[in-house]
Amino acid sequence: MPRSPQEETVFVLAPTGRDARLIGEVLESAGVKVSICAVPSDLFTALGSGAAAAAIISEEALSRETRDCLAKLMADQPFWSDLPIILLTFAGRPSTLNIAAAQAMEALGNVTLLERPIRPETLRLAVRAALRTRMRQYQLRSHEESLQEAIGELEQFAYSASHDLKEPLRNISIFSELLEKQYGETFDGRGQEYCRFVRTSALRMEQLVEDLLNYTKLSNANENEPVFSEAAKCLEMAIANLSQAIEESHAVIEAGPLPSVPMRSTHLYQIFQNLIGNAIKYRREEHPHVAITATQDPKFGWRFAVEDNGIGIRPEYQERIFGLFKRLHSATKYTGTGIGLAICQRIVQRYGGRIWVESEPGRGSIFFFTVRA
Ligand code: ADP
Repeated sequence: MPRSPQEETVFVLAPTGRDARLIGEVLESAGVKVSICAVPSDLFTALGSGAAAAAIISEEALSRETRDCLAKLMADQPFWSDLPIILLTFAGRPSTLNIAAAQAMEALGNVTLLERPIRPETLRLAVRAALRTRMRQYQLRSHEESLQEAIGELEQFAYSASHDLKEPLRNISIFSELLEKQYGETFDGRGQEYCRFVRTSALRMEQLVEDLLNYTKLSNANENEPVFSEAAKCLEMAIANLSQAIEESHAVIEAGPLPSVPMRSTHLYQIFQNLIGNAIKYRREEHPHVAITATQDPKFGWRFAVEDNGIGIRPEYQERIFGLFKRLHSATKYTGTGIGLAICQRIVQRYGGRIWVESEPGRGSIFFFTVRA
């Protein structure tokens, strides 16, 4: 994205006209674009739109209100941005109030303190350094944009490829079934076996393609769906969908009180469905027992846990299983495509959370995921 002139402009907030004039003259003579803000709101409008190369603020403009506004703007910056701020302080007679204000400013991020009276050369050098860091940040932004574009194109590719694969696969499985039904008797044992292989492979491939489509569809989530859901309702939906597996395995599903969370319900329900489905699928001889809980955590917001008494996962595989198509067993032992946990991870990360597993082979696993409160 080309840079706008405002993105290359240094904004100056210095209430005493003499300072502002001096800064303007010094920087303009050094070829730097400068804009003098008469009042703090002018500065905030410029910074709030996200486009500024740097800000120079004199200490006396830093009322508590100005500082709070600035702190909010700085905290809300996108990840690539760390706006350079040069704070002009008084030398010689700093009041405790001024020192505290300057320290609070410094804690906000990329803040340089310059003591007055400032020599023009010092100011020029400080602004040049600030502009250099800002240009690096713009480069980072542009790499991030290209990366997002490439990811978008890849997702689109994966989506259309999986979509286009569906029809020929469907034909393979239909015609191999017809072949087996109508001509199966004319085949010898080996011929019939080959026919079955074709059919089961086509069915497996269909399932893979379907799961891959679900994985890529996550990026096209329905934006109109409210971004808030009752976890208990999502769990209910997941349990209803898994009712056959629950019945067949005599699984017992227990849940503690669950919160409302800022997540689309289709997403949360998919996580529950995948994790509980796995807890049932990867069971031991005994009946599956699955417990779902949520605890509040000051750092993470909410931390959900889905605990089972299944076969467990060896420590060396506990990270790998979240990768796309990563499975620890053959399809004949446990059916599956290795996409379920990748979907869970993608959803959780999309909401800024994390998913991981703690497990003891032969005893069971606990899958944890975090959601902001
Ligand atoms: P799938 O179940 O289709 O293979 P997943 O992505 O859901 O794909 O899981 C990846 C792998 O992680 C599984 O193949 C299995 O080996 C392991 N796994 C997942 N959940 C559990 C669980 N609750 N207990 C033991 N192993 C599990």
